[in-house]
Amino acid sequence: MRYGTITAYILQTIQTLRTTLPAQPPPDIPGPRELTLRPEHAGVRPSVTVLAGPTAVGKGTVSQYIREHYPQVCLSVSATTREPRPGEVNGLHYSFVSHSKFDELIEQGKMLEWAEVHGLNKYGTRRDTVEEAIANGQHVLLEIDLQGARQVRQTMPEAVFVFLTPPSWEELVRRLVGRGTESAEEQQRRLETAKLELAAEPEFDAVIVNDTVGQASARLVEVMQLTTSAKTAEN
Ligand code: 5GP
Repeated sequence: MRYGTITAYILQTIQTLRTTLPAQPPPDIPGPRELTLRPEHAGVRPSVTVLAGPTAVGKGTVSQYIREHYPQVCLSVSATTREPRPGEVNGLHYSFVSHSKFDELIEQGKMLEWAEVHGLNKYGTRRDTVEEAIANGQHVLLEIDLQGARQVRQTMPEAVFVFLTPPSWEELVRRLVGRGTESAEEQQRRLETAKLELAAEPEFDAVIVNDTVGQASARLVEVMQLTTSAKTAEN
């Protein structure tokens, strides 16, 4: 009886706090930033561009648009342990693998980078496919999360790092909720991760706002061309 009273009191206090505490202010959203090359870029032609940004900002949509409209860009196909969504094609959108296969790839040192994203599934970039594309003279685009971007920064500091940002926090929430692919609990978890991801923007060489997918994709391809011609001009 006594425990029941205590429990009721705790629950009531939580409810009161929920309704009386002010809502958290939305995090700062970075604005667009032009490409600035770092000392690590001097004398090298960047062959890899990394596209990262918070959940639901539209990295996948931008990648899909680039796949369809800019065939000159080599888009890396990541391996993942998550299940395919309707319409996703194995080998095109992702290479869908089992957890044991993914762990084998890690143990064999075949991953350029990999991460457990949102604490659920593993995603990673195979080293051999990227190296092969570079050897063929292609410029490779990696659409990966922040943890993966940081790993590539360690192993390939000459890569170009682009951050995709939403027009506003409200728009990011709207896109996440609107796509309806995650439960309410999962949405909340992703929004918490998004706040940390947004705060990492200064680590990147350029920031592109994903206002419309066509414009954001055009800007990304422009950045990739800029990096290529920057080195060409030096040669
Ligand atoms: P989704 O499940 O929505 O396709 O992707 C979830 C997250 O995984 C996105 O933030 C996406 O950028 C990230 N992701 C996709 N491929 C890779 C990858 O190869 N490596 C890493 N580190 N993250 C990835």
